[in-house]
Amino acid sequence: KQELNIIEGALELRNKTVEDVLTPLGDCFMLSSDSILDFATMSEIMQSGYTRIPVYENERSNIVDILYVKDLAFVDPDDSMPLVTMTKFYCRPLHFVFHDAKLDLVLEDFKKGKSHLAIVQIVNDKGECDPFYEVLGIVTLEDIIEEIIKSE
Ligand code: ATP
Ligand code: ATP
Repeated sequence: KQELNIIEGALELRNKTVEDVLTPLGDCFMLSSDSILDFATMSEIMQSGYTRIPVYENERSNIVDILYVKDLAFVDPDDSMPLVTMTKFYCRPLHFVFHDAKLDLVLEDFKKGKSHLAIVQIVNDKGECDPFYEVLGIVTLEDIIEEIIKSE
């Protein structure tokens, strides 16, 4: 029975989109690019429990970098190092997907690529101004795997 559920879940991936499983931007634990890696910030990062932390500039919808918690291994909070020093050094690539991307294709991307997190975008053409990309949230490999194993 369990096996059948998993197969069903896997087959369902092609009917589901990133939008169905993403973590909304408002729920994302992120850091402002002007953060200082002092004790308070480092504690907050550790307490969040997340491995990958998007870094935004000015507004949360403007994600410019991603911090891996393992990149902090040699950081001494007493040095109060600017976050940008670390993100510039490691230069982790950002991956973007569209909100309507099918989960089976995103899973393929995650398997191919090195990163297991992507930023979800939508083209906003509803307003007066020119269409622009709007960030809806983030999606990770875990979100897709959960979709495979949860289905009843
Ligand atoms: P790992 O399991 O590889 O250590 P993790 O626990 O940080 O990573 P994932 O397992 O990839 O994160 O994802 C678990 C859930 O948390 C998913 O729903 C994902 O969308 C969400 N998530 C991942 N990173 C963040 C973040 N920085 N802020 C909020 N939610 C996040
Ligand atoms: P992240 O998702 O944060 O990049 P990671 O790259 O350290 O984490 P995983 O993504 O969990 O590790 O696993 C990637 C592959 O590396 C898997 O095949 C896993 O079995 C293997 N792996 C993870 N940790 C180790 C380790 N300490 N020694 C050898 N192989 C490992």
